[in-house]
Amino acid sequence: MRLTVLGSGAACAGDGGNCSGYLVEDGGVRILLDCGHGVASTLVSQLSPETIDHIFISHMHADHFIDLLPLRFAVTKDLSGLSEPSGHLHLPPGGVSSLERVLDAVCFPLDFFSTVWSVSEYQPGDVKELGDCLSARFAVGVHYVPGWAIRIDGSASLTYTGDTAPSDDICDLAAGSDLLLAEATLDEPEDGPMRGHLTPRQASELAASAGVKSLMLTHFWYDADRDAAAETARRCLETEVLVATDGAVVEL
Ligand SMILES: [Zn+2]
Ligand SMILES: [Zn+2]
Repeated sequence: MRLTVLGSGAACAGDGGNCSGYLVEDGGVRILLDCGHGVASTLVSQLSPETIDHIFISHMHADHFIDLLPLRFAVTKDLSGLSEPSGHLHLPPGGVSSLERVLDAVCFPLDFFSTVWSVSEYQPGDVKELGDCLSARFAVGVHYVPGWAIRIDGSASLTYTGDTAPSDDICDLAAGSDLLLAEATLDEPEDGPMRGHLTPRQASELAASAGVKSLMLTHFWYDADRDAAAETARRCLETEVLVATDGAVVEL
């Protein structure tokens, strides 16, 4: 299983940076996890977008889905679409109506996505079979809108937290993963009733509780000190700690 970081930024990624996007390739299957600002252009510089088999969106915040619009145009500029879907677009619960509101706002037809991808919503408890040897499972985290973590099992196992505050359900989902791709957005933990992100320390505590083999920190603001985040996480965790940078490739 190979992970390529297409975008590792939070809602404002900074000059030259992309928001959330991760390419997972395993057993001939290509999976895109999230598609934030900048991800589509980076992706099409590396491969043909119609070779993406599955796209999973963790939650309906713009920094995780807005580049579905240019990615759809990269598959075909023809608004009438393809004769057959080139892949599957998996949205969180409520995602179909969210995307329809976006399409309405930007004056695109409501079937804009469904003419190139088969579009559906995943549900709690779903196990999605992706080809012969891969599967996806989900857990809802703690975010300002319903945000989902996604676990991919194949020749290795990878759990992506999406955006979340500390979450027992995501810890259970991630148990024993080869890699936990965990957001580490905050410098200081949130202490009010509104919680939705992790500090590097909280990400490492999640990794330790889940017993994962390695941790990759991601979802950084434009002015984040990524080296300091890694140092903090390494102080709290005995297993390997990586820091996502756009373009990084990890073989699992
Ligand atoms: Zn985000
Ligand atoms: Zn979010």
